[in-house]
Amino acid sequence: MTKQKIKHAPRASKPDDVDRLKTEFIGIASHQLRTPLATIGWYVEMLASGDAGTLTEDQKVFLTEIRSSVNRMTRLVNNLLNASRLESGRLKIEPKLTDPYPFIRDIIHEVEPLAQRNHSTIRFVEPKAKLPPVSIDEVLLRQVVHNFLINAIRYSLPGENTIEVTLARKGGSYVIGVSDEGIGVPKQAQKRIFEEFYRAENARAHAADGSGLGLYLAKMIMEASGGKIWFVSPTRYRKGKSGIREGYGSAFFASFPVRGMRRRRGERNLAA
Ligand code: ADP
Repeated sequence: MTKQKIKHAPRASKPDDVDRLKTEFIGIASHQLRTPLATIGWYVEMLASGDAGTLTEDQKVFLTEIRSSVNRMTRLVNNLLNASRLESGRLKIEPKLTDPYPFIRDIIHEVEPLAQRNHSTIRFVEPKAKLPPVSIDEVLLRQVVHNFLINAIRYSLPGENTIEVTLARKGGSYVIGVSDEGIGVPKQAQKRIFEEFYRAENARAHAADGSGLGLYLAKMIMEASGGKIWFVSPTRYRKGKSGIREGYGSAFFASFPVRGMRRRRGERNLAA
């Protein structure tokens, strides 16, 4: 860069400016990464379907690895893009009257194969009194509940996990809860798990891959739409090896006002 250009480069003297530039940079970089990633994904599918000739068994195995890495990277890039759209206030929030029961059942159905692989059982505890349709942005709330469920499955030991999904009216709000019997959130990590990129030590040891972006996005979605997000952990106890009672299990909650999620006129949708 020439001296002239440096002189006119955007200056980031205040913390707010630094934050804004960081958000802009992440937004542009992740947007630019989407096209080449989509192209790689396309060619992987063409190779896998035999368009370029029959594949050997080894080549099929390698392609499966490439496909799963491309999918992971696409999720990461989309999450970065969504974080920047939320941070800059450009994400649209468009609530519509929705029957909450099929909405929740459908998300459970989507994660069921992953739950089965991990020998987790998911139960939807439906409220006794039927709730009326609620005004929600399905795409955004789905991202939040989906993230709760994926975490409830991932951060648990195979075969020892019943996940309960609840939906209830509490005062002026509707509350969706997802509880598990998994590894729990250690006390020293509890203040930080909604921070961008933060992952607790026990979570990193249990599942190496993870971005620490899911709960950060979920919190921004709930707060931008007039709702709240929180968790409780441990929810259960057992006797440890040394006789000490150890905590385990977590329960995550998202709530929004009975009158519905708050609308916002932005120019972008959630990238998925
Ligand atoms: P990721 O799962 O990619 O690490 P998240 O933002 O979804 O990112 O979660 C942030 C952190 O919160 C996790 O790394 C983990 O430490 C903790 N966490 C979230 N959900 C659970 C859960 N159900 N049980 C235990 N820890 C959890």
